[in-house]
Amino acid sequence: MEERIAINGLTFVPYITRDRIQAEVERVAAEIKRDLEGRDPVFLCVLNGAFIFAADLFRELGINESKINFVRYSSYSGTSSLGQVKEIMGLTEDLAGKDVVIIEDIVDTGLTATKMVADLRKRNPRSVRFATLLHKPVSSTTGFQPDYVAFTIPPKFIIGYGLDLDGKARNLKDIYIVESESGSAENKDKEMLNLVLFGAPGCGKGTQSAKLIDEYGLHHISTGEVLRAQIAQGTELGKTAEAYISKGQLIPDELMISILDAELDKLMADGAEGVIFDGFPRTIPQAEALEGLLEKRGTKLHAVIGLDVPEEELIVRLINRGKETGRADDNLETIKNRLDVYHNQTSPLKDHYKKQGKYLPIKGTGVVDEIFNDIAQGIEHHTGHKRRTRK
Ligand code: 5GP
Repeated sequence: MEERIAINGLTFVPYITRDRIQAEVERVAAEIKRDLEGRDPVFLCVLNGAFIFAADLFRELGINESKINFVRYSSYSGTSSLGQVKEIMGLTEDLAGKDVVIIEDIVDTGLTATKMVADLRKRNPRSVRFATLLHKPVSSTTGFQPDYVAFTIPPKFIIGYGLDLDGKARNLKDIYIVESESGSAENKDKEMLNLVLFGAPGCGKGTQSAKLIDEYGLHHISTGEVLRAQIAQGTELGKTAEAYISKGQLIPDELMISILDAELDKLMADGAEGVIFDGFPRTIPQAEALEGLLEKRGTKLHAVIGLDVPEEELIVRLINRGKETGRADDNLETIKNRLDVYHNQTSPLKDHYKKQGKYLPIKGTGVVDEIFNDIAQGIEHHTGHKRRTRK
């Protein structure tokens, strides 16, 4: 692999090796095969960028009956005034009643993908699925979610393995990423970084939050703490919240969302560099509302960190904590109950964020600093945000 590649005044550095590409192509092929075996699928390779990915994926699938077409999604030739009107060219196959899989190189804003899927559906296929080598969820303006993704990447320019810059670099066997120059417009320091932290009681969320706050200049919003503070201050919100809590009821989604809205206003006024949400969202409507709250402030949720610790270890940690602090809810029966509630509550949310390509599972056992290193690496890989210090 070459160390650095210069094209048209930009420098690119190695990003994904051919071995990792091969491994993920095999995984995607296995997923497609599982979903479509015995269904006689039609593959559509979108030219030009996807030709190498499509060739590798198609061979890896090993479904002898499946067909592949090569299409181009491009503007009508010679229409300058209607330059935006695109159509699928080169499609000779009748798709009615067929299971179609689009093979793309990269989904960036998601505009091309959204329009292409809509156009294909007009041909009455039985199903349309979308497989992409690369997905940049942070660049998405459409919320388009591919069905199969080999790599989720930050919003930076990529070349190699079929992807070009001005027609060059498609031949490279590995994938390269543009090198960011510090102080340039690409420097992400000024962009907010918003994270959700998920983890069962006792998983080390408090410890890792403190490190995230320190290393990324983030603010921490724990909805539990906000509620307790509002109740203590006797605000209107606090009084309403208390009425629910005192009856042992869950706070309704709308109330939680308005509390969070007010909290975000305060943070934005303070010039927060980003936010860690802890204890929120707890439901899918809350997750959707959170996206809306961030969007209206010109930002978004970047990643959801899930700290995984086996149940047996959580129980041991919580019992020890109970002994040390005398916390009344740290006994075996309530611990088991809290863990059940946690798992029931968060598993639909995990799936929700996995589908969006935002879920970052982290092994939460071992040395605290190593766990944090894994989190920091995941954040950098997903969003391009770097920690302040490197240990
Ligand atoms: P979208 O409609 O999702 O914004 O556009 C996707 C298209 O933008 C891709 O098919 C590709 O042509 C181009 N594109 C977006 N990001 C990159 C990138 O990082 N590298 C290259 N070579 N092309 C890109």
